[in-house]
Amino acid sequence: MNQPKVIVIGGGASGIIAAIAAKQNNAIVTILERNARIGKKILATGNGRCNYTNALASELDYNHPLFVKSVFHTFNVEQTISFFESLGISPIIEDLGKTFPMSEQASSILDVLLYELEHLGVEIVTEVLVQSVDKNNQKFTVILSDKREYIADKVIISTGGKAMPGSGSDGIGYNIAKSFGHHLVPVFPALVKLKLDCPYLKQLDGVKIQSYVELISKSKVLKEEFGDILFTSYGISGPTILQLSRKANELLLNQEEVFLNVKLVHALSKEDVIKRFENAREKPVDFSLIGLINKRLISAVLKEAKIAKQNTLVKDLSQVQLDTIISLLFSWQFKVSGSKGFEDAQVTAGGIDISEINELTMESKIEKGLFFSGEVIDIDGLCGGYNLQWAWSSGYVAGLNASK
Ligand SMILES: Cc1cc2nc3c(=O)[nH]c(=O)nc-3n(C[C@H](O)[C@H](O)[C@H](O)COP(=O)(O)OP(=O)(O)OC[C@H]3O[C@@H](n4cnc5c(N)ncnc54)[C@H](O)[C@@H]3O)c2cc1C
Repeated sequence: MNQPKVIVIGGGASGIIAAIAAKQNNAIVTILERNARIGKKILATGNGRCNYTNALASELDYNHPLFVKSVFHTFNVEQTISFFESLGISPIIEDLGKTFPMSEQASSILDVLLYELEHLGVEIVTEVLVQSVDKNNQKFTVILSDKREYIADKVIISTGGKAMPGSGSDGIGYNIAKSFGHHLVPVFPALVKLKLDCPYLKQLDGVKIQSYVELISKSKVLKEEFGDILFTSYGISGPTILQLSRKANELLLNQEEVFLNVKLVHALSKEDVIKRFENAREKPVDFSLIGLINKRLISAVLKEAKIAKQNTLVKDLSQVQLDTIISLLFSWQFKVSGSKGFEDAQVTAGGIDISEINELTMESKIEKGLFFSGEVIDIDGLCGGYNLQWAWSSGYVAGLNASK
């Protein structure tokens, strides 16, 4: 087979780079995409800036490090940055390794990819929904919802997971994989805003602070993050929360109780705060907290501490009341009641079982000629460029090997 015919199902980040890698290696390549254009989700990434990789990413930042390590061996972060530089993207590396195009526009990433696809001569067919795939006599038949068919030597399933279904990734790719005997590790939203069981959300809506946040279950601290958090009408969001959300959702899925401990005061010690109260003995307790925590948090903290009159003078508080306030300032526990779901999630945890995929080639161990790339696989990473890096690495490896 000199020039294999490769069909890529799904024109997201991983499908696009898979198509480029296959075409660069002499395959005849067609992308089948259900949307009117490819790369829709890329435009939404990094708040429109596209955090397209993380300069510090390693396999340890993913749920299956050994599998990712093999894939990174063929196409790693440095190769990704060089690949995009060769297409015209100058990188800018920000805190914690987050890497963006210097133009700060996600559209730049899509523009250069589209140019490359056109330049290489990859066929792109849009507004086609792949319904199923069959295999007979070494050839795949890719069947569309309108019953049209495409014949291919190799098929790459790059249909994404279930996150942001409006972008086209609603999990249909899982069914195609299952029809070949593949198994699905249960999926749940990761990198997602969390809902809290808390009576003060209405008054806290919009309060943004920097905080340490601990994820607690069965009285154990399972994870801690520091950074921006935002209280909202339904719960809590912000980068810190996204990083904790995968573990929180995994525990909720297992019917475990999950809590977040928020440290409202992190730049002072408890002794410093006790001293503050001593110096403010003649002041109303609500006023004594001004300048220490966000003004809109004060009333909620005092209600939680069961202080009936918020203008009680500090000197008139009982020791128990004072201790309760101090304890809330350093560790206010909120019960997590759920998440905003796939609609709002950046990534899907779970997916096609990695034990059924060859980590050196991304080829199915069950069906020869069938490949996988991107989020459809049971791989997810932290927030900060890690998931697109997975899409590029796995897509490149799948495309390269499908071309052989
Ligand atoms: C709002 C948001 C912001 C994000 N920001 C970042 C970030 O800054 N950095 C980062 O690393 N990650 C980010 N991510 C995650 C990252 O975008 C994804 O992990 C990555 O795009 C997954 O790529 P993919 O190609 O596997 O899947 P997708 O991008 O989901 O692409 C799948 C494609 O397949 C198509 N498709 C699905 N089924 C079919 C079918 N049956 N027939 C035809 N076509 C089909 C879909 O329409 C879609 O175009 C973000 C995600 C979201 C939602």
